[in-house]
Amino acid sequence: MTRPLSPRLTPNARTVLRQRYLARDAKGVVTETPAALFQRVAADIASAERLYPPGTRLALAARRFYDVMASRTFLPNSPTLMNAGRPLQQLSACFVLPVDDSLESIFDAVKYQALIHQSGGGTGFSFSRLRPAADAVATTSGAASGPVSFMRVFNLSTDVIKQGGTRRGANMGILRVDHPDILEFIALKQNPMEMTNFNLSVGLTDEFMEAVRHSRRYALVNPRTKRPVKRLPAALVFNRLVEAAWQSGEPGVVFLDTINRANPTPQLGSIEATNPCGEQPLLGYESCTLGSINVARCLTRDGRAIDYDMLAAIVPLTVRFLDDVLDRTRFPLPAIDRQTKLTRKIGLGIMGFADLLIRLGIPYDTEEALKVGDQLMRAIQSQAHAASEQLATERGVFPAYQGSRLQDEGRRRRNATVTTIAPTGTISIIADCSAGIEPLYGISVTRTIMEDIRLESFHPEFLKQARARGLALETLRREMAHSESIRHLTQIPEDMRRLFVTAHDISPAHHVRMQAVFQRSSDSGVSKTINLPPTATPKDVAAAFQLAHELGCKGLTVYRSGSRAHQVLACTHVQ
Ligand code: ADP
Repeated sequence: MTRPLSPRLTPNARTVLRQRYLARDAKGVVTETPAALFQRVAADIASAERLYPPGTRLALAARRFYDVMASRTFLPNSPTLMNAGRPLQQLSACFVLPVDDSLESIFDAVKYQALIHQSGGGTGFSFSRLRPAADAVATTSGAASGPVSFMRVFNLSTDVIKQGGTRRGANMGILRVDHPDILEFIALKQNPMEMTNFNLSVGLTDEFMEAVRHSRRYALVNPRTKRPVKRLPAALVFNRLVEAAWQSGEPGVVFLDTINRANPTPQLGSIEATNPCGEQPLLGYESCTLGSINVARCLTRDGRAIDYDMLAAIVPLTVRFLDDVLDRTRFPLPAIDRQTKLTRKIGLGIMGFADLLIRLGIPYDTEEALKVGDQLMRAIQSQAHAASEQLATERGVFPAYQGSRLQDEGRRRRNATVTTIAPTGTISIIADCSAGIEPLYGISVTRTIMEDIRLESFHPEFLKQARARGLALETLRREMAHSESIRHLTQIPEDMRRLFVTAHDISPAHHVRMQAVFQRSSDSGVSKTINLPPTATPKDVAAAFQLAHELGCKGLTVYRSGSRAHQVLACTHVQ
């Protein structure tokens, strides 16, 4: 056998790994190299192959897993990198916890949230089942506090539980648009001190979107009594939501009916919530492990086209990897272990899409870019489905297959969902590529990740092209530091300014259309930020929400430049 290749990592990647991922001894001294990290993860994940005789030869699986990570072609989500082969062994990034309308259920969920955060996972909740504020409480004859008050408990608890030295917890909080406390929920994050550990999303229904379109009223329903308590003009609520999102980027929206039309296991219940970044709709107590292929590394040798043969080899390997992760994870609760293994959801996605387009010479904001995205993700999804079907023949279908939508369609798969587009906020730094399917945020960006690590870098391909054309880099560096866009910098040749288009140069509608293209081939959701220029109006936000709904997106998050001082999650945003 040839020697294992040593990982080629940038200084930024090494910094991130050293700060949070490499193993340390009791004194906190780093005891692992990046190569040893990938070996640890590969060996641990490959050991799941033992469960499935005849299985691939263990050493071979471990070697393949190592190579695909060390070459930065694929990385699993952060908890897998941090915890595989170490005492915690909690490998999953995404969890949804149920919250029912009782004190016991609420405070159980707070406790479970703490356990999950401690292990590096993020949590999503729907608070829609909680009775509204001022509603009756039988046991004390008092008045209920309502979902918003309880949400503050979850937020505070997150502050207190700093995640065992890995990362601060992240949450998603969802309230249905027909909950009586919806206006309070919508206004909540207008105060920047509120709910700082949460992303919030309003759960929109098709009925509500219809009511907005036809300027009708709709009913707010008390979830305890199931009775309507009042009727509001849908346009009023929609406008408040749009104004709030325009002001602060929050709340976002999730389209509950779209999500449930694609729910692969409706027999287990309907889906009410997603994980913190919204890409993974899940049932209560379900979790999901993610992994992303760096598509910028999947070009043909001459660099002119996507290497579909290479993808055809990588996709089955990575689907297998993620299915193995499920068997290696030590879940924080027995209920999560049970529920997760009923559906065996995995989320294979991509990162480096903007870099791929740049290498192909295609600006992100073109019809051609949409076409490339569509072809690429369709290919990945069909290869990933085939791989999950192959695993089902080797290892059996997921246990909740009976009665699932997949059974109706006659598709015998190992995993109820296979594809997802994750934000890849940190793993894209380790892989040194653009995040998820996002365009470049800037050519020269400072990324604040994990609260305290600030990284600065220039886009490598830009540097390469700038050098090749003899541009005065030092002068450019100064000018580019003041702005994310380079559109106005006339000393840069026109075709380069066009190719290195940045998030704010791109129309909101194009962002939404790109999200929708990837949604078509994602079994779960798509993490994407719809960036708006500072000059965008609330009308632009309303149009983006409506377009996303029409195009079949499962949710939407907008971000207007400069509107938010602090982001919960370490994604691509510059502060
Ligand atoms: P990474 O690049 O670190 O693997 P992503 O940015 O792709 O992570 O996020 C994937 C998912 O991981 C999120 O949707 C969320 O569920 C979880 N997650 C991300 N950041 C955090 C965090 N700081 N704390 C807890 N969970 C997180």
